[in-house]
Amino acid sequence: MTEFISIRGARENNLKDVTLQIPKRKLTIFTGVSGSGKSSIVFDTLATEAQRQLYENFSLFIRNFLPKYPQPDADAIENLTMAVIVDQKRLGGGSHSTVGTVTDIHGVLRLLFSRVGKPSAGGAIAYSFNDPRGACPDCNGLGKKVGVVSDDFLDMSKSLNEGAVQVPFFNDWDVQAYTLSGFFDNDKKLSKFTKDEMELLLHGKDRKFKAQFGGKTINLTYAGVIAKIERSYVQRDIKTLSERTQKAVMPYLKPRECPSCKGARLNPAALASKINGHNIAELSSMEVGELLKVVRAIKEPKAGPIVNALVERLQAIVDIGLEYLSLDRETDTLSGGESQRVRMVKHLGSSLVDVMYIFDEPSVGLHPRDVHRLNELLGKLRDKGNTVIVVEHDPAVIEAADHIVDVGPGAGRSGGTIVFEGTYEKLLKSDTLTGRHLTQALPIKKDVRKPTGQLRIKNARANNLKSISVDIPKGVLTAVTGVAGSGKSSLINDVFLVQHPDAIVIDQSAVGTSTRSNPATYTGVMDDLRKAFASANKVDAGLFSFNSKGACEACNGSGVVYTDLSFLDAFKSPCEVCQGRRFKDDVLAYKLDGKSISDVLAMTVAQAVELFQKRKEIVRKLQAMHDVGLAYLTLGQPLSTLSGGECQRIKLASELHKDGSVYVMDEPTTGLHMSDITHLMGIIDRLVDGGNTVIVIEHNLDVIRSADWIIDLGPEGGSKGGEVIFEGTPAELVKAKRSLTGQYLR
Ligand code: ADP
Ligand code: ADP
Ligand code: ZN
Ligand code: ZN
Repeated sequence: MTEFISIRGARENNLKDVTLQIPKRKLTIFTGVSGSGKSSIVFDTLATEAQRQLYENFSLFIRNFLPKYPQPDADAIENLTMAVIVDQKRLGGGSHSTVGTVTDIHGVLRLLFSRVGKPSAGGAIAYSFNDPRGACPDCNGLGKKVGVVSDDFLDMSKSLNEGAVQVPFFNDWDVQAYTLSGFFDNDKKLSKFTKDEMELLLHGKDRKFKAQFGGKTINLTYAGVIAKIERSYVQRDIKTLSERTQKAVMPYLKPRECPSCKGARLNPAALASKINGHNIAELSSMEVGELLKVVRAIKEPKAGPIVNALVERLQAIVDIGLEYLSLDRETDTLSGGESQRVRMVKHLGSSLVDVMYIFDEPSVGLHPRDVHRLNELLGKLRDKGNTVIVVEHDPAVIEAADHIVDVGPGAGRSGGTIVFEGTYEKLLKSDTLTGRHLTQALPIKKDVRKPTGQLRIKNARANNLKSISVDIPKGVLTAVTGVAGSGKSSLINDVFLVQHPDAIVIDQSAVGTSTRSNPATYTGVMDDLRKAFASANKVDAGLFSFNSKGACEACNGSGVVYTDLSFLDAFKSPCEVCQGRRFKDDVLAYKLDGKSISDVLAMTVAQAVELFQKRKEIVRKLQAMHDVGLAYLTLGQPLSTLSGGECQRIKLASELHKDGSVYVMDEPTTGLHMSDITHLMGIIDRLVDGGNTVIVIEHNLDVIRSADWIIDLGPEGGSKGGEVIFEGTPAELVKAKRSLTGQYLR
């Protein structure tokens, strides 16, 4: 008999009394246009309530110290179990957090070395770079040390006498030491220095010399330019230097490989310990696909169970399409999609059952070829006895679901209802936006645009790129495709954007960090609103700023107050003084077209466009938001509540008016429903028709079919990728035999 999680009368955000049953221990997909209310159900209702119920289990004493976790606005939510949310937040964690540490695989590997590594360095801790007993003492296990990397401070066309040493924070005395030392020909241009002379000038140390100064002979110790900078400015706490000196020194410093451990992070004893000729650092730097082969070849009987545990976890990484990563890869260099999949591996290894796992678009960054692997992993989690809930738009993931919930029909106020519940077969026959889009793919574009020129990329070698050269056509839409890890971001972000720094990057990173930024301030429409309020009421425009004397003093105009709790996320609650209205009562008495400033901030973009029809400047700025599919956002919604996809679209809205520019977007379809994508393509087409060049990194087949030009990288990820497999039009790509992307277009 199927059990259900049941929600009755849910009203968070735009939800219209949603009543819903979600089958337990099944895979359920939530889909629907962006802004329809999927997150309001899954995150703001289900996950929040699960969290609250978890807190209820704490003793009364502990709960005294906890925030009252807000009860979601719903009549009843029943039959919940513990929720684990696996979203796209990037895995931060600094240098000490790697793919190996967050998946716990590094721990298993250390255990293996402590049992069968020869010679043994000790217990598992002796192989840990996160413990002083294993870490390289020189870099404290970071593998990197800050050092002087630049030699900008030498003018090679000058001699020492002509002032070749130009370190802005050296005093005269420091500089004169080089000419006084007697070690150099002071009239010889640096460009003519031999290797040894250069080495001495930069790195020499501990050599004594005598110098004549002010009629006296003094004994001095020589230090090369870099040696001196390191000793005087790097090896001491930078905070003891004056702020001015800190600013001057910083440009010359960069982390570089630790000279003692060569980046391996461990002390010599740990590095000397080997299994089948490899030390633990070497194994950690291999691509997981390779590492799996090496681990499988370990035949020591003593190691049997540990090897099996390792194989199982490494296989999970391979299965999810991340075989091109290495265990020592720092997690803060992973993309959002990669971070989510890495965390998924960790949960697969967990022995918890009857958990509600919630995923947010796990297909992001995955090539169509690899989506089935994701489906298999979601299925495995379910088959362990868990309820798996996924917010997703990818047709291939939707097809794998046991149960589908389609939220809609529109976004914001036109959404918030359940338009379909049931199986994939039934969805295909249903008359909903999702049902209709699933049964019709966009055609392959035939009448492609003619380029107006070329943007060259020469000998790109970043990460796995095999010294490739490609031309990106100007004045058209180019899609860069290929499986995850094939080198798309390396080519575009690490090479193209460096060579063409004037390009406009529209990415998914957060917009604005201030708690007071919102769509009105971001688009500049807040300025127009302030002026309009001022002239309508004959008062000062400043009154209507969040940081003016017109703002509520209790919350500084943010409408919310934050309570800091040391061991939890800061807890947010509406300001009691202004009830979240952000301004003082006398300011709220001033009206524009019948609305107070607080009323206006609570309106959606769509409503504001309608109300302010006659105010051209306001409508013009809001129209751009409308055009990128964000009409459902309210003007005062904090930007910190926007998803990655929404951040990307709001940036697009604010850049739309520029002509003759180069735009770069990384998976602009993230968070978009199939019907939103049609809309996005319309905007991109208008950008290109306006004389701009647009480059998108994409996996979405509809976008690829609608591009003018495609650059397909591959054939695989990591060391097996980094080549150009195909350059041409979509119609040609369909015929390209070697291209995986071509196969999926067919
Ligand atoms: P989806 O997940 O389907 O994209 P959401 O549930 O995020 O949709 O949003 C549904 C509606 O609720 C949208 O109009 C959105 O702008 C609004 N909304 C979401 N979060 C907030 C919030 N924290 N404050 C105000 N409005 C919100
Ligand atoms: P794609 O964008 O096609 O998914 P990437 O350009 O991100 O591929 O990655 C190409 C290769 O370079 C992969 O092997 C990846 O692991 C590696 N790589 C990417 N970024 C980094 C980084 N910051 N440090 C080390 N390796 C990286
Ligand atoms: Zn070191
Ligand atoms: Zn307040």
